[in-house]
Amino acid sequence: MSRFYSIRFRLTATFLAIILAVMGIISLFLYSTLERYYMSNLEDTLIRSGFLASDFVVGHLRGQIDSVRLSSLAEDMSRQAQARVLFTDQQGTVVGDSMRVGGLLNQALEHEVVRAALDGNVSSTVGFSESIQHHVMQVAVPVIEENESITGVVFLAASLEEVYHTLYDIRRFLYLATVIAMAVVGGGSAVLAGRFTGPLESLTAAARKMAEGKLDQHIEVTSTDEIGRLAEQFNIMAKRLNYYTSNLKKFAADVAHEVRTPLTTMSLLTKSLKEHEMKPEQQKEFIEDLDDELDRLTALVNDLLELAKLEKNNIEFEKVALNRLLHDVLGEYQYRFSHAGLKLLDDIREQDIYIYGAPLQLRQVISNLLDNALNYTQAGGTVTVSLYREANEAITKVEDTGCGIPEEDLSYIFERFYRVDWARTREVGGTGLGLAIVSEIVAKHDGRVWVESEEKVGSRFYFALPIAEK
Ligand code: ADP
Repeated sequence: MSRFYSIRFRLTATFLAIILAVMGIISLFLYSTLERYYMSNLEDTLIRSGFLASDFVVGHLRGQIDSVRLSSLAEDMSRQAQARVLFTDQQGTVVGDSMRVGGLLNQALEHEVVRAALDGNVSSTVGFSESIQHHVMQVAVPVIEENESITGVVFLAASLEEVYHTLYDIRRFLYLATVIAMAVVGGGSAVLAGRFTGPLESLTAAARKMAEGKLDQHIEVTSTDEIGRLAEQFNIMAKRLNYYTSNLKKFAADVAHEVRTPLTTMSLLTKSLKEHEMKPEQQKEFIEDLDDELDRLTALVNDLLELAKLEKNNIEFEKVALNRLLHDVLGEYQYRFSHAGLKLLDDIREQDIYIYGAPLQLRQVISNLLDNALNYTQAGGTVTVSLYREANEAITKVEDTGCGIPEEDLSYIFERFYRVDWARTREVGGTGLGLAIVSEIVAKHDGRVWVESEEKVGSRFYFALPIAEK
């Protein structure tokens, strides 16, 4: 990715553009206000001095004109006003000049402000003075006699050097302020953007590594803002993904292991049958063993298929009368229990307990629990199934008087392929998947499953499902 497309670059550039625009507008406004202020201040001063001078020369610009006196008066005025002062007569001819050497005495002063003053108007202009080689402000004020007639003009010209110098200083100050503001804002926004984008870059790097298959990624969360929360969620996601993947690998290894055991036994049995001379009874025994192993493999494959089906998530739920469903399944199991010398008691007294669920899956749950009760209870024992309400849940209990489960195994028995007693499980043909299937189906129904058990006394398996509202 080009660095010009990076958030850091764009954020910094945007901030710089904004500060440049803001400083530009402020500077322009400030500068033009100050320029206007200085110029009009000077203009006012010159006009006031002009009127003052005109008061002095009233009556001296007609008849016999004394240019020497007028020039020395102009000189005095010039010192006070800090400007060149000229007097002209009615025709605009200079009759007094504060500049003695190289002055304009007796010359016609061809100037627009002079012409305006002779017409009775006060005006000012900015022009360039050849004599001082600088810009000057020029003002002309009419000299008005008592009878209202205009007998001449006072002309003042002040150098703008000082004003321009001050304005130049102000301009320089504004440039400097803009540069400093841009440096501060630019630096600040680059640091700030870095703070935002730093964690995003680590996130990107971690995500890339995950895409390459390195799933054990963890990002240091340094803030509690949006980006911090994103990093936190990323960590949770990475952990989950890692967990699922390693679970999947473990499951695949477990399946291979589970399949290998019956296959090895079957291979040995077949080899023996093939290579050794055997009596017919012995042969029959071997074939029966082979059949048992085949049954075990089939049961394993069936349970695996059941688990795979559960992963799919495309089951439609319907309203199910749980009490009736349990009655049905218990009816189907009666024969197997009595055949094994066990009593199966139906203690379902609740009527009309409805839940939302998949009937086939719910049958599977109760079947698996009954299979276990049957397998792990000695002849003469009793298995009781009951159903009751608690809060908004329907709780099914399968209680047996069997061998029970040691305390240390209780928290593991719902895991895939976990068996308490390998030899016994093998004897009864268990796959180690029955309770894992129960637990997944119940979870799919937003329910809970748990067990209480005491060794040599018996076990109580419970599953609770949310009751469907009427
Ligand atoms: P299996 O197919 O081996 O029965 P399960 O997942 O159904 O697998 O059960 C896991 C283990 O929990 C069993 O191997 C068994 O040791 C124990 N178990 C399950 N139900 C009972 C029970 N009712 N009484 C005693 N032990 C049980």
